[in-house]
Amino acid sequence: MAELVLKPGKERSLLRRHPWIYDTAIGRVKGSPASGDTVAVRSHDGKWLAWAAYSPSSTLRARCWSFDESDRIDASWLAARVRAAVARRAHLAEASDAVRLVFGEADALPGLIADRYADQLVVQFQAAGVEGHRDALLDALVAATGCANVFDRSDSAGRVREGLPAVHGVARGAEPPLRIAIHEHGRRAWVDVRGGHKTGYYIDQRENRELAFALAVRARRQLGRDLGALNCFCYTGGFSVALAAGGANHLLSIDSSADALALAKMNWQLNGLPEAAAEWQAANVFEALRRLRADGRRFDLIVLDPPKFAASHHHVDRAARAYKDINLSALRLLAHEGYLLTFSCSGAIGVELFQKIVAGAVADAGVEAQMLRRLAAGEDHPLRMSHPEGEYLKGLLLQRV
Ligand code: SAH
Repeated sequence: MAELVLKPGKERSLLRRHPWIYDTAIGRVKGSPASGDTVAVRSHDGKWLAWAAYSPSSTLRARCWSFDESDRIDASWLAARVRAAVARRAHLAEASDAVRLVFGEADALPGLIADRYADQLVVQFQAAGVEGHRDALLDALVAATGCANVFDRSDSAGRVREGLPAVHGVARGAEPPLRIAIHEHGRRAWVDVRGGHKTGYYIDQRENRELAFALAVRARRQLGRDLGALNCFCYTGGFSVALAAGGANHLLSIDSSADALALAKMNWQLNGLPEAAAEWQAANVFEALRRLRADGRRFDLIVLDPPKFAASHHHVDRAARAYKDINLSALRLLAHEGYLLTFSCSGAIGVELFQKIVAGAVADAGVEAQMLRRLAAGEDHPLRMSHPEGEYLKGLLLQRV
């Protein structure tokens, strides 16, 4: 078996079980491992550290499978990781049949995403290691879930960095239907696993959509008036449906994607919500928010769930300005005692920086606001404590006072 020998000092992060090894940490490679091969990782003085998957084209040159020398990274080891990951999510089945079953590094399967939508599985192999064990992992997923149909959405940008071609198609079983109906906290949604974002749906926002529902219920009681709500970057309308189901009387939903809006409208109908209560805008949110202000509009509940503005650390400043811009605009539209749910899914922007940006927007808007909660992705997107890079989605619940 090939070996990676690290430079002096570079063993420290591995001793803390951090799973990533960059090319710059490697002193030399013994043998000639191919993409995805399992390698032994050793310190400069020969001490065994980890089993890792080798990825020759990526600067993230290896990702650790295991820190236990007695492990053998074979089909049965992988199947055990898959079974454990699936078992840890069993309690979520009651809340929803849209669940992330495997979340890469967090589940000791670096680069593997597996999502369940009813009886359909959707996978992404985002690193050379899991790609190299594709068949074993697919077998394990089918065995652990009893789902026969698996669709492969390995078409994300990360594959390019790993030197892997994009894959988009059936991996096991039959073609998925055009749309799959899922349920989430008693509401329903259509998911397009072929053409939708990520694997089709933002599973990570499940608990925050449920919070939006609860806020609408609360606001109806507290404010005792008809509620107007605004959902920015609405995608397929998950937050819109939740807010309306909770009692928001009027819902304005904005997204730049016509496809997303088309599915959002179907989701509105699927939940039996009144057509007259919905207003849809295909628009750029940055401009739409300014127009709404010029029109003198006000909202009791506002959701801001934009796409990732900072793709990496290089984009933090520009992204911070963009987050500030939309939060400032939204706060100016927020009614007294109204609620703002604001999110960032940029891993490069930490929760403290995000809070600072939003605080800046509150100050510039000249309003008073309380932060009621900090928010994160659901429990099926856990953060492995040795891998802080896995943290990405953060949000704040504010109330204007
Ligand atoms: N809140 C959604 C997920 C939002 S994803 C949910 O719970 O499902 C982000 C969305 O922002 C995508 O649908 C994308 O089409 C949209 N988007 C990206 N840039 C935009 C812009 N400048 N204006 C409006 N929508 C935009």
